[in-house]
Amino acid sequence: MRLSRYFLPVLKENPAEAQIVSHRYMLRAGMIKQQAAGIYSWLPMGLKVLRRIEQIVHEEQARAGHIPVLMPTMQPADLWRESGRYDDYGAEMLRIKDRHERDMLFGPTNEEMITDIFRANVSSYKQLPLTLYQIQWKFRDEVRPRFGVMRGREFLMKDGYTFDLTVEDGLHAYNRHMVAYLRTYERMGLTAIPMRADSGPIGGDDTHEFLVLASTGESEVFYDQQVTELKLGDRAVDFDDRAQVKGICDEFTTVYARTDETHDAALFDQIPEERRRVGRGIEVGQIFFFGTKYSEPMGAVVVTDKGERVPVQMGSHGIGVSRLLGAIIEASHDDKGIIWPEGVTPFQAGIVNLKQGDSATDSACEALYAALTAKGLEPLYDDTDERAGAKFAKMDLIGLPWRITVGPRGLAQNKVELTCRRTGESEEMSPEAAVARLVEIYAAHP
Ligand code: ATP
Ligand code: MG
Repeated sequence: MRLSRYFLPVLKENPAEAQIVSHRYMLRAGMIKQQAAGIYSWLPMGLKVLRRIEQIVHEEQARAGHIPVLMPTMQPADLWRESGRYDDYGAEMLRIKDRHERDMLFGPTNEEMITDIFRANVSSYKQLPLTLYQIQWKFRDEVRPRFGVMRGREFLMKDGYTFDLTVEDGLHAYNRHMVAYLRTYERMGLTAIPMRADSGPIGGDDTHEFLVLASTGESEVFYDQQVTELKLGDRAVDFDDRAQVKGICDEFTTVYARTDETHDAALFDQIPEERRRVGRGIEVGQIFFFGTKYSEPMGAVVVTDKGERVPVQMGSHGIGVSRLLGAIIEASHDDKGIIWPEGVTPFQAGIVNLKQGDSATDSACEALYAALTAKGLEPLYDDTDERAGAKFAKMDLIGLPWRITVGPRGLAQNKVELTCRRTGESEEMSPEAAVARLVEIYAAHP
């Protein structure tokens, strides 16, 4: 993309309404525009990161064997009357009447609807296990929408639903989600710690939240420092291997890490003092196993191999896709702007032409642009007439992890400068070497 042809409406001033850094930078970098409290338009660069996050979620769900579907945002109230949640859910549910006076709602979550799909189509244990998921907009009429996309009213969520014959199978599905989520967040450059949680209105016995440590997080968290050092990395996972999957879950949930809802002071005190940490975290996902909570009242029943009819065992598993943009920025920024992790960056590198209009620098930039594109990388080329300082400031604000700077002096010796946004370190090299380096870096972030 050439900046002169892009739509990147950056703001010079700090927007007064933004209280936290991610909200401030998302507005300043022209990623989102608020349309009403907690409701946002996604401008091109914001949308690019959102799509990138969705893609990682899809890839990791596919790896775990889960199947995508898409349900509507609008739901009939009658489904929710079956589960009893139409009355229970309260003011967060946006209720709407259609022209025929039928009660509708904008879905805050989809347990009822997926249970309806299941009961209409599945009747035998032979069709299990089954995990269906979607990435779809949700609406929750939050009392206090704030912090930009972190607590919106309309927000994008990945919600997955598991269907199993037995509790044991259902718990395996739960564990499979935990492992898939661990890799999902790691690919986004995040450390998201699974913490035992209290079940909310969705209900359930087994539930963990995934928290990203950040001082602006809404949850208070208590943890053993060692938990932050755990990494799944690229180890091979066989999602059908129950022992392996359970082993990974144990590895990530044995070290103490809890939110204030489930915190146990006596257990916490057993951690050696120098490793005890109290901080704040952003909830970026949650997994639940709730058994027959919906299948029983809604009649989602399967026939077992012995001919018995039993309600299916269910769980639901969510990732806050749009909230993740805020969480990633909270975890990765400096006073100049965002620092995108390679896994989610909207463009893999920026190209800054220090002397636009100079035939040598112009053609060197064009050649770099073509070479990176040919390698499947997408550069953002600042081909505007702005002065160098302004170009650098903009690149720093939008946070591309790598920048190639092309100036007449370096070019005279066939050199460009490759700069790492995170460390600020620069290295001079030939344009070919810069391209090769970026190809190598991004090979580790498919
Ligand atoms: P919270 O406690 O933050 O209100 P929740 O526990 O009600 O969230 P879940 O039902 O677990 O949310 O939804 C799954 C994920 O969706 C959450 O982990 C969170 O990342 C995201 N999410 C929930 N509410 C919002 C919101 N208002 N804006 C953006 N993302 C949200
Ligand atoms: Mg939650």
